[in-house]
Amino acid sequence: DSSGAVTARGPVPADLPDRIRHYVGGEHVDSVDGATFDVLDPVWRTPYVQAAAGKAADVERAVASARRAFEEGPWPRMLPRDRSRVLHRVADLVESRDARLAELESFDSGLPITQALGQARRAAENFRFFADLVVAQVDDAYKVPGRQLNYVNRRPIGVAGLITPWNTPFMLESWKLAPALATGNTVVLKPAEFTPLSASLWAGIFEEAGVPTGVFNLVHGLGEEAGDALVRHPGVPLVSFTGESRTGQLIFANAAPHLKGLSMELGGKSPAVVFADADLDAAVDATVFGVFSLNGERCTAGSRILVQREVYDEFVGRFAEQARRVVVGPPHDPATEVGALVHPEHVEKVLRYIEIGRTEGRLVAGGGPPDHLPGGSYVAPTVFVDVPPDARIFQEEIFGPVVAITPFDTDADALALANGVRYGLAAYVWTNDLRRAHTFAQSVEAGMVWLNSNNVRDLRTPFGGVKASGLGHEGGYRSIDFYTHQQAVHVAL
Ligand code: NAD
Repeated sequence: DSSGAVTARGPVPADLPDRIRHYVGGEHVDSVDGATFDVLDPVWRTPYVQAAAGKAADVERAVASARRAFEEGPWPRMLPRDRSRVLHRVADLVESRDARLAELESFDSGLPITQALGQARRAAENFRFFADLVVAQVDDAYKVPGRQLNYVNRRPIGVAGLITPWNTPFMLESWKLAPALATGNTVVLKPAEFTPLSASLWAGIFEEAGVPTGVFNLVHGLGEEAGDALVRHPGVPLVSFTGESRTGQLIFANAAPHLKGLSMELGGKSPAVVFADADLDAAVDATVFGVFSLNGERCTAGSRILVQREVYDEFVGRFAEQARRVVVGPPHDPATEVGALVHPEHVEKVLRYIEIGRTEGRLVAGGGPPDHLPGGSYVAPTVFVDVPPDARIFQEEIFGPVVAITPFDTDADALALANGVRYGLAAYVWTNDLRRAHTFAQSVEAGMVWLNSNNVRDLRTPFGGVKASGLGHEGGYRSIDFYTHQQAVHVAL
């Protein structure tokens, strides 16, 4: 019963705001028309606060503020070293508030508290990384001896529109805010409407760190209203978006008349491929974590596991057993490994896919709310095996704790299965054969591949997907490239 009552009431964080407001030009403000929307907490599934529902007029104010700060303020003209100092202070503040951030994030999104804490630390790390990178930045120069010198004059672009999803909201906001600000742009952030709570902490953090007024602006609201107004605003030349592929397509179309710079981090249905020669202990541990951590609400989740026939039965048995041992519980409990899914609408979606899965594969673990937490927003780690490649649970992103396992025979079969979906975000390969690992990695249609390893990123590497998983790459210098113009200056010698 997905509409069931509250089953496990967690503690409510102290000092919750009594409403969530926009932040424009250094002021916390309501919507111009006074509109608000309800924010639900995932466990109680009842509104705990109202957030300002931004519309075009609110986006207009925020963009005007950001534009003023870009044209008149010191931020774009500061030395990289000086901006970097401010952003290191942002990182220090995020770090010093990591427990509070995790508490709010876990309460608002349903993420297990220990994992929310890890995400808060990653947010700090994103700021540190880009603060360092802009100081170390080297721009190209090309000399034609005796004739010409050419050099790159890198400049911030203007007001960047940042639109983010509800999974690991604070961390994903930092992934855009840090490079946009480090390169001297000013920003308008539109966080996801399911999870606006942690985003409202940015204003205080930036003020305390010394980010000049108007550089950071925040508009809450629904995607089709606030998000759409940002996408269509002619004064916002750049939009960095993370979210569903469908929304990305819409944003592409709506931004087209303005020829905006777009970065699109979209959905995934990433394969984890386990060859018979793999270290099965490591592969089982990593694939269980890969699909069930962050409640399975993770763009790079290994949500399809392809297993070579010789080890299929053994793998399936061990995987299912381990999946049943994953601790599902209240988000605030440090023992919890899978918390509450973010929102009743999302729970409905995941449960619908589980019902579809029952007709497409064989259920060996989970299958709905766990026995000890009936109703509510909890879904037990759910494992379908013998899933054919044309199944909807093999093809479509579920974005919850549900995995499809499929056998294969040869390397070519594995590759065809891995590539046989519209997405191409990540891939994970488990084998002890070096040549096979690299050959597979280089043929698989995925923006990122992990060989015999968990999803751990080096922030210098490119991040992004192919096919329906995205366009453009961020990460390291690629983020700097997205957020700057590279003007070529030619000098006759
Ligand atoms: P979503 O597309 O529904 O919403 C994302 C953001 O876009 C929200 O802020 C929303 O308000 C806004 N939005 C919605 N419609 C809009 C419109 N018409 N114009 C402008 N903005 C609009 O996605 P979601 O459900 O919040 O997030 C889950 C999705 O995000 C999954 O598909 C997941 O794979 C993807 N994701 C991708 C990455 C990545 O880096 N590739 C990372 C995390 C999540």
